Amino acid sequence: MTKCVFCGKDEADFKGVYLIKNDGSINYYCSSKCRKGHLGLKRDRRKVRWTEAFHVSREKRRAKEKEAAEKAGKERAEKAKKLS
Ligand SMILES: [Zn+2]
Repeated sequence: MTKCVFCGKDEADFKGVYLIKNDGSINYYCSSKCRKGHLGLKRDRRKVRWTEAFHVSREKRRAKEKEAAEKAGKERAEKAKKLS
């Protein structure tokens, strides 16, 4: 199984392209879409909606927001208690 560096898709058959850098790191791209997005257009994979990294970061962000909202709600309730 090879994992695409950009979109994070696991592939059993190798249809894509390997990029082997001089420092020895190996990047695998499943499609030209991913290769061009990463190397040519220099897109941030966390900002491209169809990648795995985007969904992971979005879930993290949502969890954080939820936590913050719960905290704010608790603080508000405590304040209301103190006042009454
Ligand atoms: Zn890909």
